Amino acid sequence: MTRALVIHYDPKLVEEAVFHAQRDSYVATDIDDGRRRIYGVSDPDERERLFQQLYREWFARLRLGEIIETSVHEHALISALVDDCYVVSATLVKQEGAELFVAPDAAAEKKQRHTLRILIRPESLLEPESAIPFLRHELYHIADMLDPAFAYEPALPRTSGGPTYDTLITNRYRVLWDVTISGRMMHRGWLPQTIRDRQLKEFRQAFPMLEEASEKCFARFFDGDHPRHAEMAAFALDPRAASGLLSERSAAGTHCPLCRFPSHSFEREPEKLDVDVLAAITRDFPGWTPALGLCLQCADLYRASRLSMAAAKALPGWSTETLSPGEHRRNESPQPSFCKGEQGGIDDAAMQSDDESDSERGPAITVVANDA
Ligand SMILES: [Zn+2]
Ligand SMILES: [Zn+2]
Repeated sequence: MTRALVIHYDPKLVEEAVFHAQRDSYVATDIDDGRRRIYGVSDPDERERLFQQLYREWFARLRLGEIIETSVHEHALISALVDDCYVVSATLVKQEGAELFVAPDAAAEKKQRHTLRILIRPESLLEPESAIPFLRHELYHIADMLDPAFAYEPALPRTSGGPTYDTLITNRYRVLWDVTISGRMMHRGWLPQTIRDRQLKEFRQAFPMLEEASEKCFARFFDGDHPRHAEMAAFALDPRAASGLLSERSAAGTHCPLCRFPSHSFEREPEKLDVDVLAAITRDFPGWTPALGLCLQCADLYRASRLSMAAAKALPGWSTETLSPGEHRRNESPQPSFCKGEQGGIDDAAMQSDDESDSERGPAITVVANDA
């Protein structure tokens, strides 16, 4: 553990956070004095440097980075394994989040460099009550990705279904991961007990096929201390089998033409499924007709599709994106609107503006390189 985590703040974030802190009048007066002195400097580069220095000093004096520093060091794995943390200014709430980039370390063979990027709005730095739980949630994702026992993989196993199907499985995985994070945060005293019911509701929406078994399955993830990527992926892919609760009833011997799993319960009247649902299925499985039938689990997936497609799409590194074997992109979605429990509402524009913020602002980060 010779390397220490270094936190770098985007100058734009520093300046804007200080600007927002000026609501306190004594701060405003003092900064104005400083600014007036700097305006007198004729060299524009020197002037810019002095402005940045002024804002950096105030940023430190007002302890505006405190919530970042505290939350980053709450996870031993992050403190130990992350080399650099860049804190970058976000414009919209939905852009806020944390991402992890992994690249081979040029200085040491067989070692990897871990770079953490936190996107946050300057205003959020002044709102610790909401920013701290959010940061803690995001950093749990990062700590899990760094944890060898969690054994994170940047892609879920492919199903034989089409993109809609894969995206829906991804969405289930996201719900499971959030359930384990909320559970651990609650048990640590970081979230109120009420989070349990909120999270159970989301779990039920993502896994309607579990019916009366859902609370028991939920507890396994919510109360578990050591989530594993593989376990969550298996559960997302086939909740009935992975739950173990329904195995005694699964002797039906017929396979669902979509997921190809043996199923004990089929959708009763597939021809009566919503037009949108039927269209989505035939897009993924062109040869399929309602007469071939489908299992309830698949029907549930497609029924839920309108709700969760938008959400699942916003998980970078998942679903439709394929990674070359040498590529280690570990990336958690900077989409806090999921984590705050809002449904849907992630539109393409929001995702694009996040991309724009990548290129327009903040320190440049070399994202990922190949091992080869
Ligand atoms: Zn099926
Ligand atoms: Zn999350």
